[in-house]
Amino acid sequence: MRVLVLGAGVVGTTSAWYLARAGHEVVVVDRQPLPGNETSFANGGQISVSHAEPWANPSVLPQVMRWLGKEDAPLLWRWRADREQFAWGLRFLRECLPGRTRQNIAAIVALALYSRGCLQALRRELRLEYDQRECGILHIYTQPRAFAQAVEAARTMRQFGLDRESIDAGRCLEIEPALAAARHLLVGGDYTSSDESGDANKFTRALAGKASEQGIEFRLDSTVDRIIADGAAIGGVRIGGPAGGEVLKADAYVVALGSYSPLLLRHLGLRLPLIPVKGYSATLQLAEGSPGPTVSLTDDEHRLVFSRLGDRLRIAGTAEFSGYDLEMNAVRCAALMRRTRQLFPDLQMDGEPQFWCGLRPATPSNVPIIGRTRYPNLWLNTGHGTLGWTMACGSAAALADLMSGRPAAPAFPFVRC
Ligand SMILES: Cc1cc2nc3c(=O)[nH]c(=O)nc-3n(C[C@H](O)[C@H](O)[C@H](O)COP(=O)(O)OP(=O)(O)OC[C@H]3O[C@@H](n4cnc5c(N)ncnc54)[C@H](O)[C@@H]3O)c2cc1C
Repeated sequence: MRVLVLGAGVVGTTSAWYLARAGHEVVVVDRQPLPGNETSFANGGQISVSHAEPWANPSVLPQVMRWLGKEDAPLLWRWRADREQFAWGLRFLRECLPGRTRQNIAAIVALALYSRGCLQALRRELRLEYDQRECGILHIYTQPRAFAQAVEAARTMRQFGLDRESIDAGRCLEIEPALAAARHLLVGGDYTSSDESGDANKFTRALAGKASEQGIEFRLDSTVDRIIADGAAIGGVRIGGPAGGEVLKADAYVVALGSYSPLLLRHLGLRLPLIPVKGYSATLQLAEGSPGPTVSLTDDEHRLVFSRLGDRLRIAGTAEFSGYDLEMNAVRCAALMRRTRQLFPDLQMDGEPQFWCGLRPATPSNVPIIGRTRYPNLWLNTGHGTLGWTMACGSAAALADLMSGRPAAPAFPFVRC
């Protein structure tokens, strides 16, 4: 069958790859000149299976209350007269109930574990290079209360079969000696040796290159204006932008438009519980010989991740609920650098940090929306929130199985909406 994949982020590009692998003819459409140019551009780089807990959990609410109204807080909710954002907030509260959180963790872990296996197999097969590191992820805690909760959370994650080890500050330094100058701040950590990191953008572009070589067509610089219904099914997709007014037709359509997915589905009567949540990153070119972390780190207190990507260091995180606004907030950029200096005072960089922000396609549960819609030839692969890089390959492989009439491997609640 001929399939049109809408969106060439990490989710759309992997979807195209696995669909072609399943024998379909695939065309990918994206408004950007290159694949992976929006949210998949400069994320935290973590393949974080063992820290797959969603934001919505019973312990998050007191923290959110503490952060309310602080411009440099890790999580910033900007009050807007926006019905979608309000409805999303209510659903988020429901997902904080212990039973719901446990169910969501189970779904995310199943998909993320499957996804890591798919990524590793793809990397081996295609010899993909994307500054990957298989050194695990070290999560550090600087507040005793948060560490105590983390010891409990690690126990829960071990029940899901994950190798999350609670460790003291001394062991944190053995794993990542570059933390030595921050020794006085550390109260403990947890380490997951099977987690990985790598540059999602390099991966997406490398995979798109291989996909093009194998005959997958990328229609770039092409904005999707409308998905056109034809009776009970989808009849085509209208492309606008510089290409102007063409209707592309296929047997099936996949929406992998990240945060913009709901905007192109609303007129079809499909309302996705998905809003954009802005995050920031800074990429530092390290000076030759500069000390710096090599193991991917998560700083629990500031909700920041640090990933070494070759001779660069990527610092990413924070969450801002401010609609589709992509303006850079200088206060938040400065907060990233302040914390970096606090943890790694001896770091030396070449040139200035490259700041970036992107919109996470966030569902209230952080469980992505994958499956068929009520239009039999319209499929969704979107809403991957904080873990789109972690879950991309598995989501795509599972979608390709479902679209090819085969059962998908992970025990995951695929949708039918
Ligand atoms: C600061 C930050 C840190 C993060 N860190 C991590 C991490 O460490 N690990 C992890 O697993 N995840 C992380 N994420 C999340 C991850 O980056 C996202 O979940 C993932 O990139 C989403 O991929 P996507 O393909 O769904 O969306 P996108 O990459 O945004 O792709 C959607 C594509 O659709 C295209 N598009 C949109 N509208 C149209 C239109 N009308 N016409 C044509 N094309 C259109 C866009 O151009 C884009 O290329 C992070 C996110 C942020 C913001």
